[in-house]
Amino acid sequence: MLYKKLFDELAEGKFDDVMMFKTLDLNPILEFSKELTDFIKLNLKEIREFNLKSLMNIVIDRFRKVGKSYDILEVHYILQENRSNLNFKYTNYDENKLTKYLYNTTTYWKGNRNPEDVPIEEAWKCQICEFADDCDWRKKKIIELQRSKRSLNK
Ligand code: SF4
Repeated sequence: MLYKKLFDELAEGKFDDVMMFKTLDLNPILEFSKELTDFIKLNLKEIREFNLKSLMNIVIDRFRKVGKSYDILEVHYILQENRSNLNFKYTNYDENKLTKYLYNTTTYWKGNRNPEDVPIEEAWKCQICEFADDCDWRKKKIIELQRSKRSLNK
């Protein structure tokens, strides 16, 4: 859903490239290296200045010609090992759901809220988590489990 949102914002001319450069701490007018400039010269005849700002203007201009994407998304599950297609499904794009998800995620990463407990259905991921030994949630769940075992044994 996030890719669709990015795609549509580019296609509708809503994408804020100035904000992107600022967020990623990029200098949009810094000249490209000679190697990159030579490569771009071969592939983008319309570019006038060899920097990110100029390249981004061309990207945005091309997206505007494509138009907004469809609201039904198709998800494919591909096996990394041999690239075989395991399954696929269709899902409806839900802008409200995505906005809530992004808000919830960014408030955490900006330090404006505490982490939430993991839904128990997602706990299988803890088996491969590098933070498992220090994870407060796991410790809390282990204590809860020990307590419930004790109360069953009484
Ligand atoms: S061990 Fe803790 S940090 Fe790691 S996935 Fe599980 S809940 Fe998250």
